[in-house]
Amino acid sequence: MNADREIGEVLSEFGFADPAATQEAREALVRAGLTRPGKARISDAKLDKVRALLEATFARTCTDATCRTALSRSKPAAALLTVPKGACEHCGGSDNLKAMRRLSALCRARHLHRVVVVGGSPSVREELIALKPPEWNLRLIDGTERRTGEKARADLEWAHLLFVWGSSELDHRVSKLYTDTASPHRHKVVQLARRGIAALLNAGSEHVERLQRP
Ligand SMILES: [Zn+2]
Repeated sequence: MNADREIGEVLSEFGFADPAATQEAREALVRAGLTRPGKARISDAKLDKVRALLEATFARTCTDATCRTALSRSKPAAALLTVPKGACEHCGGSDNLKAMRRLSALCRARHLHRVVVVGGSPSVREELIALKPPEWNLRLIDGTERRTGEKARADLEWAHLLFVWGSSELDHRVSKLYTDTASPHRHKVVQLARRGIAALLNAGSEHVERLQRP
């Protein structure tokens, strides 16, 4: 037996939930011969084709300029389709994810992949691990625990990029191991006091942009 699904429901699952996006998606399916105008249901057997067609035809973006630029670069053949933030292919409505994508693209272009974060709460460290791109080797240092000068020097040598994050849970005795202005690794260090992962990562992006051109 041939099972089928409600077209609107399928489109919504694929990220085409608001009326304008649904309309565009339906028209693309009609053009490709996958459905006819006015049809309410679609065969299960066609769902893979539907997904592939929509992926190739559209880049779903929110109104943010960063997302629009990133998607027009990563999917140059696709038409930009403005959708609510949550359906954006680039940020999915998350400032943290967007900030991570920006920083990881900059780092990739410059072959920076050893990243150290000194400070931050345990929950923030968990989120950084979840967000990080696969190529990053991420070393997270609890800013409330004692760290020897020797270990800190090893971190500085190893790192391509090292954050000293003084917004929370960072002991001054730990932070000063990393912020000696005479250190030959000073250029790798990003110091900031603002809260939030997006703020941290954006400070990293600004630092990397200033640091060197790829
Ligand atoms: Zn977005």
